[in-house]
Amino acid sequence: TPPVGVLALQGDVREHLAALSALGADARPVKSAGELERVAGLVIPGGESSVIDKLSRIFDVRDAIRARIASGMPVYGTCAGLIMLADDLVDGIAGQQTFGGLDATVRRNAFGTQLDSFETELDIPALGEPPVHAVFIRAPVVERVGPGVEVLARVDDGRIVAIEQGPLLGTAFHPEVAGEHRFHERFLERVRAAS
Ligand code: GLN
Repeated sequence: TPPVGVLALQGDVREHLAALSALGADARPVKSAGELERVAGLVIPGGESSVIDKLSRIFDVRDAIRARIASGMPVYGTCAGLIMLADDLVDGIAGQQTFGGLDATVRRNAFGTQLDSFETELDIPALGEPPVHAVFIRAPVVERVGPGVEVLARVDDGRIVAIEQGPLLGTAFHPEVAGEHRFHERFLERVRAAS
């Protein structure tokens, strides 16, 4: 597998680097356009999407990420990372932008204050058994998907929490904090297929 990156502007970068390394990948933090050039895929971590957005412009890496997404680079986003991959954002802070790529509308902080954080088991047919132990931390939800988007997982009330569109994968929850590596493995498969 060629080297892969974890966008290291803000968020749970270390957990993603550990998950990818556990799968045998050469995983590196990416903070600049130069570092982005040397990886064949990118993970966008959980954290705070409005901060990741701002820092991506300050560090001048936003346009390079958008260009790589447009040219088919595999990307996996968790939580804030899913928000960053959505073409349309609801409930962002004033002026907040995303990188885009997923033909989807994502609502930030969708689970409300009482359920800010919770854990549940999700049946995800694309991953098989066992169910995924999903950790949600002030998580977003997917409110609309375009025709090219595949829904991978829903919570009990039917709301969409994992989607895929070609080489782009997004989950509203955090497999990297739960020892769940199947999404990272799926991302690495996309990276191998693309290179
Ligand atoms: N609420 C955060 C945001 O809006 C996402 C939280 C997370 O990544 N765990 O970006």
